[in-house]
Amino acid sequence: MTTQPSKTHLFGLNRQALTEWFVALGEKPFRAKQVMKWLYHERMLDFDQMTDLSKPLRALLHERAHCALPEIIADQIASDGTRKWVFRYPCGNSIETVFIPEDDRGTLCISSQAGCALACPFCSTAHEGFNRNLTSGEILAQVWLAKSLLGCGDNGKRVVTNVVLMGMGEPLVNFNNVIPATDIMMDDWGFGLSKRRVTLSTSGVVPAIKQLKEVTDLSLAVSLHAPNDALRDEIVPINKRYGLPALLEACQEYVAHNGQHGGVTWEYVMLRGVNDRLEHAKELAVLLKGIPGKINLIPFNPFPGSRFECSKRSDMLAFQRYLTKAGFIATIRKTRGEDIDAACGQLVGQVNDRSRRALKLSREQAEIA
Ligand code: SAH
Repeated sequence: MTTQPSKTHLFGLNRQALTEWFVALGEKPFRAKQVMKWLYHERMLDFDQMTDLSKPLRALLHERAHCALPEIIADQIASDGTRKWVFRYPCGNSIETVFIPEDDRGTLCISSQAGCALACPFCSTAHEGFNRNLTSGEILAQVWLAKSLLGCGDNGKRVVTNVVLMGMGEPLVNFNNVIPATDIMMDDWGFGLSKRRVTLSTSGVVPAIKQLKEVTDLSLAVSLHAPNDALRDEIVPINKRYGLPALLEACQEYVAHNGQHGGVTWEYVMLRGVNDRLEHAKELAVLLKGIPGKINLIPFNPFPGSRFECSKRSDMLAFQRYLTKAGFIATIRKTRGEDIDAACGQLVGQVNDRSRRALKLSREQAEIA
């Protein structure tokens, strides 16, 4: 990506911000829709090719704006069709983006940070440390690039129908950059995805979940992973700061505010001997009773140096059966893209300057407190 600090990355501006940006330049507000149509519908980034803009306006765009893309340093396809890209920024960090084709949908899993500061011990991104938040433009560019690299699709199978913020990073620690990018994903002048098809996954940054309902109505997934505070404190360290009662209350508020479209997706990684016993399933059923949503059991994906093992298949099935009998929708996530390290929790990218992690972590935590 060529950095042009004085110029604005247009991918970073949602429709409202882009309208204001044009007005501030003395242009008509409708220029925002006109340019968004080029960027996201026509997937045209060359201002000179935006034929319905006057020459002076094109010159102004050259002077003030850019739509830089990261460098594609890897593009791999797994045996099951899952495709993983590694995108690199001029600062040296690289991040990973994964496309998962299924019969009825195509899900793009995008990253929100270079690394992650939250230190969940079962996640390989956490082991890489944290460098920085991605900008809105960098977050959206993953969708833009994936759509372009996938082409128009065969039988719709290679088309991006869903976006999940489940790649590297904790999106709610990067709230101000994530929201404009998701706005563009859901805007008809942008990528036009419905709110049911853009899902943000969080480990439980409670103040940010509370803010979320004021600015968006995307779908919420929560990395629960444990049915009580004592166990969750161990495997999702942010729980020590924001415990389960506060987390569940914030989620309920979010769902109620947004008309409960499907409720919350509760993610629960299955760790052998840690959180996968029937007593945990029972506790989970009591905890989540009455909150609209579904439970997604995720088989643990190992990575070098991890101290966990995936639950036995029979234990996962028994866990699922218990929850189903208790009236929950509970599914076991199919692991995809393992042979290219593209599965949940296996995304590492290249996170530079990891020594900054402690410093950054305290700063980020101060920001979200
Ligand atoms: N920080 C966000 C989003 C990134 S992780 C969050 O915590 O939700 C996306 C999902 O993958 C989360 O549910 C996470 O807990 C899960 N995950 C992380 N590491 C994993 C692993 N090794 N195996 C399986 N799932 C994992």
